[in-house]
Amino acid sequence: MKTMNLTENKVNKAYFGEYGGCFVPPILESKLNHLQLKFDELRKDQNFNKEYINYLKNYVGRPSPLYFAKNLSKLTGNKIYLKREDLNHTGAHKINNTIGQILVAKSMGAQEIIAETGAGQHGVASATAAALMGMKCKIFMGKVDTERQALNVVRMQLLGAEVITTHLGNGTLKDAVDAALGYYIENPDSYYLLGSAVGPHPYPQMVKFFQSIIGKEIKEQFYKLEKKLPDAIIACVGGGSNAIGAFAEFLNHDEVMLLGAEGGGTMLTAGNHAATLTLGKKMIFQGANSLCLANENGEASGSYSIAAGLDYPGIGPEHAHLKETKRATYYPISDKEAIDAYKLLSRTEGIIPAIESAHAVALALKTMNNKNKKIVINVSGRGDKDVDRLDQSVIKQN
Ligand SMILES: *Cc1c(COP(=O)(O)O)cnc(C)c1O
Repeated sequence: MKTMNLTENKVNKAYFGEYGGCFVPPILESKLNHLQLKFDELRKDQNFNKEYINYLKNYVGRPSPLYFAKNLSKLTGNKIYLKREDLNHTGAHKINNTIGQILVAKSMGAQEIIAETGAGQHGVASATAAALMGMKCKIFMGKVDTERQALNVVRMQLLGAEVITTHLGNGTLKDAVDAALGYYIENPDSYYLLGSAVGPHPYPQMVKFFQSIIGKEIKEQFYKLEKKLPDAIIACVGGGSNAIGAFAEFLNHDEVMLLGAEGGGTMLTAGNHAATLTLGKKMIFQGANSLCLANENGEASGSYSIAAGLDYPGIGPEHAHLKETKRATYYPISDKEAIDAYKLLSRTEGIIPAIESAHAVALALKTMNNKNKKIVINVSGRGDKDVDRLDQSVIKQN
């Protein structure tokens, strides 16, 4: 492993402060270099952007509403708006990225796309985009995850994708990424459709670009309603794609507070949480220099969260930088706080959020009580997928 031999100009783009970069074997280096050049070209290409926006509008169903949650507002003594990414086709923000990247793959002449998935959300969004474009699709998934998420495996197969079970490691997301990277190295005609703002350059930058539609819409919609910018934007953070997408448009507006909710799990001891920004160490992990949960030997360690989408030991490099520079603040939210918020939003607004998104709702409840602020919570996805995993007695309790 070594870093890419980048020119000064490219180095600046590959890093957020000291975080980011492209730490990959030489064979991947040239592929990613090519991808970066192509993406730089496409992001400025009017026809490409037109096609992307057209799919977002007519296929995904954008713009997603910015909904004034009056019951939750009254309850918390704030004015709370919900950005409804849960209403997108396939039920979450992930489709914004998969549509964007599959158009990149198509214009690069890729023969097939490959992707990793943990809970299956990114796998389904990738298989969906592949079906739409008539492209072959292979989804890598850990053995344990294929068993926990059997329904999503069937969904991906229904959409025409091949699901490849990896027996590496613990059989979860981290191992699926390793398996996908291995395949990518050996198959030059494949395109790796990475699912979050993580990994080697240019992925963090590219995923941010495609998810920034969230923040662009928030800015416009909020301004129409309130004639100002929001006081705070709150999002959950797994790898960090929905959060960076919601934050991007506001990074230069210091008056807008940016808050991220990580998976606090059952407690903040090794193996029981996914609070990478709170407790992670600086290290190179899956292609980039960022923060990562580590054991005493400095090796990447396991994570845990009730929310599969937040259950990842790494974090996108830009979030590590935003934390260090204090432009954004990140808090662990426990499983219990997330379940309480999941139930609360369901009952007060009739909106069942993804258990991931419920972490963002919980963070609003925890830090913003009676502050009389105008807040946007990004509801990254819908929560029907989580009903089966929650203890039914917990759901019925008041
Ligand atoms: C995957 C997922 C997440 C976490 O991923 P990010 O890249 O951090 O956004 C959050 N919410 C939902 C609904 C997801 O499916």
